[in-house]
Amino acid sequence: MTLQLFNTYSGKKETFVPQKRSRVTMYVCGPTVYSYAHIGNARPPVVFDVLFRWLRAQYGRDAVVYARNFTDIDDKIIRASQESGEPIAAITEKYAEIYRQDTGALGVLPPTLEPRATEHIPEMQALITTLLEKQHAYTEQEHILFRVKSFAEYGKLSKLDQEEIIAGARVEVAPYKHDAADFVLWKPSSENEPGWKAPTGWGLSGKGRPGWHLECSAMIEAAFEETIDIHGGGQDLRFPHHENEIAQSCCALETGNVPLARFWLHNGFLNMGKDKMSKSVGNIVTPNELLKSWEGEVLRWALLSAQYRQPLEWTDGLLEQSKKQLDRFYRVLNDLSDVEIVNVAMPTRVAEALNDDLNTPEAFAALHSLRELAVKATGADRATAKSELLAAGNLLGFFEADPGRWLKGRAADKALDDAAIDALLGERAAARKAKDFARADDIRDQLAAASVIFEDGPEGTTWRRG
Ligand SMILES: [Zn+2]
Repeated sequence: MTLQLFNTYSGKKETFVPQKRSRVTMYVCGPTVYSYAHIGNARPPVVFDVLFRWLRAQYGRDAVVYARNFTDIDDKIIRASQESGEPIAAITEKYAEIYRQDTGALGVLPPTLEPRATEHIPEMQALITTLLEKQHAYTEQEHILFRVKSFAEYGKLSKLDQEEIIAGARVEVAPYKHDAADFVLWKPSSENEPGWKAPTGWGLSGKGRPGWHLECSAMIEAAFEETIDIHGGGQDLRFPHHENEIAQSCCALETGNVPLARFWLHNGFLNMGKDKMSKSVGNIVTPNELLKSWEGEVLRWALLSAQYRQPLEWTDGLLEQSKKQLDRFYRVLNDLSDVEIVNVAMPTRVAEALNDDLNTPEAFAALHSLRELAVKATGADRATAKSELLAAGNLLGFFEADPGRWLKGRAADKALDDAAIDALLGERAAARKAKDFARADDIRDQLAAASVIFEDGPEGTTWRRG
């Protein structure tokens, strides 16, 4: 079976074949960098990382060009800067770096390209100029707006009718809109807001800045200059963000109806219990915070435990379950630590699961079967079984840790690192030898408080984290 992906645009699963096998192109909308990402924001980078890895496995590492942007100019960023007094560049740099580190801890490979909106202002302006020339955009009260009625295909991606589109667009009522559904391409900046001078032909007097939707269209064009194979993002971006990206890009292109992307992929929501996670509800959980108590692989397992289009309910129980499942794999890998790795093909069941619209729950079930085979294997079969388990696990971004270290538990989240525990146990042994039992008991209590479980044996003291 070849790769089947659910294309939001057509509303069905389609066989994915790239335009060029030597250059497979993918763009995913990245974060607006003004604060910590929440765990719901971590679902798209992890989901599309699985797709990135799977495409690379099939077409070659260098054949897949994956761009994920940073939105570094936005009203939320400006507000954050005004509230904190920190310069905008310092805020965006800081949170872009945190985003890179946190997604890296979740096993997300760096994308091929990481364009930043502020690096592509000339391309955004060129797009607007074209849209103005073609009458798809108009100037009104220092704003430039996209004329939605000028694009007959508008609403095709989100499958919304005209009324729903207007209801959605009404969220931003504005006197400068000729029609309720029209959206901003460029808006004026006040003295203390960042802004760029508009080209003279636009008829604007002051500085201004791009609208969010326009940023992605310009960055896609700058990175790829052609229809891309895959465009991804969270389900909440389908409308209006992606609908608007399509409108801008298709209307600006010389030939008219050239699509922006061939496949549109959207991941489902992540819910906290029954609620959608949001700042207004106040139920935000960030990967940055969770990584202090959990391994990145645990979070990754939890995020991939549901098929990407399904809603995912985020609970502490889910994290505990994910940890337990990974422990089972690491115990087997630890038992096989002296077994050599040999060349193997990707196990069929894992490949078929991924080819079925990235069915990660089925891929996890396949991993468990491979684990059971590895437990039962004897002789030379152990090498094959271990290698298949590792090949499939690594493809999905798992089993990257040293099994022995994994089973000892996290060092980073506890007050005591491994060396400190060894030192304390050495000191305790010396105290006992010197019959300083009070000191030995103090050390025992200190280790217990850090959840270190140890056992005195004939070979000395062994320990593990509880
Ligand atoms: Zn976008």
